[in-house]
Amino acid sequence: MSGIDLHTHSTASDGTESPAALVTSARRAGLEVLALTDHDTAHGWDEAAAAAARLGVGLVRGMEISCSRYGRSIHLLGYLVDPDHPGLATEIGYAREARVSRRRRMVEKMAADGIPLTYEQVVAHVPPGATEGRPHIADALVANGAVANRDEAFVRWLGNDSPYYVRHYAPDPVDAVRLVVEAGGVAVHAHPFGRGRGAGAGDPLIEEMAAAGLGGLEVYHRDHDETARQHGLEMAERLDLLVTGSSDYHGAGKENRLGENTTAPEVLAEIEARASGVVPVLR
Ligand code: AMP
Ligand code: FE
Ligand code: FE
Ligand code: ZN
Repeated sequence: MSGIDLHTHSTASDGTESPAALVTSARRAGLEVLALTDHDTAHGWDEAAAAAARLGVGLVRGMEISCSRYGRSIHLLGYLVDPDHPGLATEIGYAREARVSRRRRMVEKMAADGIPLTYEQVVAHVPPGATEGRPHIADALVANGAVANRDEAFVRWLGNDSPYYVRHYAPDPVDAVRLVVEAGGVAVHAHPFGRGRGAGAGDPLIEEMAAAGLGGLEVYHRDHDETARQHGLEMAERLDLLVTGSSDYHGAGKENRLGENTTAPEVLAEIEARASGVVPVLR
């Protein structure tokens, strides 16, 4: 097993540890390299970079871009992208804004049904500057004593099949792949066959993404059972895609542990070689 974990979240989105605390956790878990991939933002990069330099942990700066097509939610990891690339910055900015009005609508629907929750309570659980999401609604429900943890909130009220679920704007996955490449980065489809995430992209769309410049598939992920992993490996082989593995760590927000799935050093080297170098890997 390598010590390379290429998918984690901090308080810059829906993780529960600050970027610096996350790097400390990575060091404690014995990781050599960590990728910080908060949802739709590079907000945590500078703090993580300073901590990584201090603690001697390698850092891949990235983001997890929310995408959607046919109402399906698709997550795309963009590694080593220039966060100031105008096209990319515009799209993730729209997605972040759309999440704010979406929160209001979800909370209104829930409150109308008697679930004890106010808009202000949710606001209080979004860390300053963070990309907000349903986990912050969950945190407000936990604080209210309505549920014990985030998972229970998702099972009862926040899941994609819930009547309270509201979609938000997100770019098309094929456009997002092109933007990541234009921004000098490498695009990897996060948890492409994850269960409990709705329909997922589906093979034809993954093929379309591959034709647009997708670099890899995150095959080793806790949401993939053995069948999904086999399918992912076959698809990666057929479409000439890299295979990565990651924890998708969210601190205390999920059970996922740092380093529970990892990426081979040769694959990271290939990601580094394919990126344009605007944003280098820090070692
Ligand atoms: P959103 O970005 O608002 O659509 O919310 C999706 C996020 O919720 C994902 O990035 C996960 O981190 C989180 N999530 C989804 N299901 C669960 C769950 N059962 N328990 C905890 N967090 C979850
Ligand atoms: Fe998340
Ligand atoms: Fe994801
Ligand atoms: Zn993630």
